[in-house]
Amino acid sequence: MTRIFNDPADFAEEALAGFCDLHSDLVRQVPGGAVRRRRPAKPKVAVLAGGGSGHYPAFAGLIGTGFADGAVVGNIFTSPSAQQAYAVAKAADSGAGVVFTYGNYAGDVLNFGMASERLAAEGIPAENVLVTDDIASAPPSESDKRRGIAGDFTVFKIMGAAAEAGAGLADVVRLGRKANSRTRTIGSAFAGCTFPGADTPLFTLKDRQMGLGLGIHGEPGLFDTALPPAKELGQEFVSRLLAETPPDAGNRLAVILNGLGSTKHEELFVLWLTVAPLLRAAGYTLVMPEVGELVTSLDMSGVSLTVTWLDDELEPLWTAPAETPAYRRGTAAVQSGVALAEEDFDGGATVAYQEATPDSRAYAADCIAALEAARKTLHEAESVLGDMDAVAGDGDHGRGMVRGIDAACAAASEAMAVGAGAGAVLGAAGDAWADKAGGTSGVLWGAGLRAFGEALGNDQVPGPNELGTAVTAFSDRITGLGKAEIGDKTMVDALLPFTETFARLVSEGGNPSPAWTEAAHAATAAAQATASLRPLKGRARPLAEKSLGTADPGATSLAMIFTVMGPHFTAVHQPAAAVL
Ligand code: ADP
Ligand code: MG
Repeated sequence: MTRIFNDPADFAEEALAGFCDLHSDLVRQVPGGAVRRRRPAKPKVAVLAGGGSGHYPAFAGLIGTGFADGAVVGNIFTSPSAQQAYAVAKAADSGAGVVFTYGNYAGDVLNFGMASERLAAEGIPAENVLVTDDIASAPPSESDKRRGIAGDFTVFKIMGAAAEAGAGLADVVRLGRKANSRTRTIGSAFAGCTFPGADTPLFTLKDRQMGLGLGIHGEPGLFDTALPPAKELGQEFVSRLLAETPPDAGNRLAVILNGLGSTKHEELFVLWLTVAPLLRAAGYTLVMPEVGELVTSLDMSGVSLTVTWLDDELEPLWTAPAETPAYRRGTAAVQSGVALAEEDFDGGATVAYQEATPDSRAYAADCIAALEAARKTLHEAESVLGDMDAVAGDGDHGRGMVRGIDAACAAASEAMAVGAGAGAVLGAAGDAWADKAGGTSGVLWGAGLRAFGEALGNDQVPGPNELGTAVTAFSDRITGLGKAEIGDKTMVDALLPFTETFARLVSEGGNPSPAWTEAAHAATAAAQATASLRPLKGRARPLAEKSLGTADPGATSLAMIFTVMGPHFTAVHQPAAAVL
């Protein structure tokens, strides 16, 4: 239970602000997250850790000498937006390039990937190192699909030490990927965490049960089993990890026994008493092991064991000194360099909108009405969508959609007030949605709305065919970015039937309004039918079996939104002159 908060929606932002105030000698809050207080005296690669909030000390707690140069901080369990990643990179870059490093989740991959493209276009080299240590989340043959959990800590530490020692961008990336390829984690969940403001945890287990294969976003274990004595739990962990010993393993291990938020240190020590002798008996020397809370999941009760097979290159980086607000090792030289001034970083220049015709401005009012209708629906459905996402995902879908649509509506109205046309209004709405919602659905909805707006343009009220083209542009952008296909159990399962039905009916000469209604019915039916599918993409994939019987949250919200938006997008229009 999280008891100390104001408005639950502000929890992550307030926690970050409090943390930055407390540690203002070491870190500095910037738009999108936080960076080291001092700029390096000479250019160094900026290692930027990232992901959602709720994992303290990951990730902002790890900003400092020998570790991260900055952290991109999303909402609770939600990937930060591309705009946030971009803004933090701009604040942290000292001329030697940046590397984003994060656990392998669809939303993070999309958002950090988009930020990297934008930085590269500006001449700032930007690379990405994904952590895929969770052996429970996919078989070894699909290790690139595995999610990142406590192994984040080891990989980030090694990259941070390499960058501190002056390694170039390519080398920091190579070492990070090498560390990741030699890092494995397995964990067990005992009780789910509770979002600030929520009454119930994201999942519960029966008494004396545990979920083996935990996630760090409140995802339940992959399967439930009786809670064994500590000795058996330790044996289970060690044997599962050692079964995946990499080639050229060597005999030196970095080890992390990690508590997830409300597992006591004493419990961890009891488990260590089994784990350490077993690893030693297997012939390993344990190098500077860590037992404690390093990557948490709010107040979740659970534990994970991470091992990294070290080699001559990785070991000195693992043992190198570090000095961060949450983690100290050895004596790190006090960071020299210039302290960043208190001036605010520019989060984005003021936007000037392209000239719009009165027709397009009149249609922009319909677009805003469509967004407002979606807003009302999403507020009503917030908890239902969150519950659906909690079955096999991380429970943030309702919250993310609400944050996204609220920001979209505000930005759309602002754009409209300064004379923007329909295309620009939807573009502004999309950008704000992606920025404020984060997550997989945030980046996809944001980019989709922008594409929809760009297809509409700022000149005319769209006729049936233009509307068909805009809907197709929305759909193409989402499938282009997310690469999901029909049957993967994502929003695309509702989106494609919608788009195909609408485009077909209007191309046959149908009126947009009934065509939209029929297409929305197709989307709703398709969304419901996803209940019988196993997810092949996104956060729910590792828990595919649990997801059976529950419809995909993203497909469900998409069908809801399209249903209520239809009457506005297809409203029969008065000539602009009559409106203005
Ligand atoms: P996150 O998964 O980052 O927590 P949300 O919970 O807001 O983000 O959204 C989850 C939804 O995102 C899923 O229900 C699914 O519909 C959608 N989704 C996940 N991956 C993809 C993808 N690759 N392409 C399209 N939609 C996706
Ligand atoms: Mg989610």
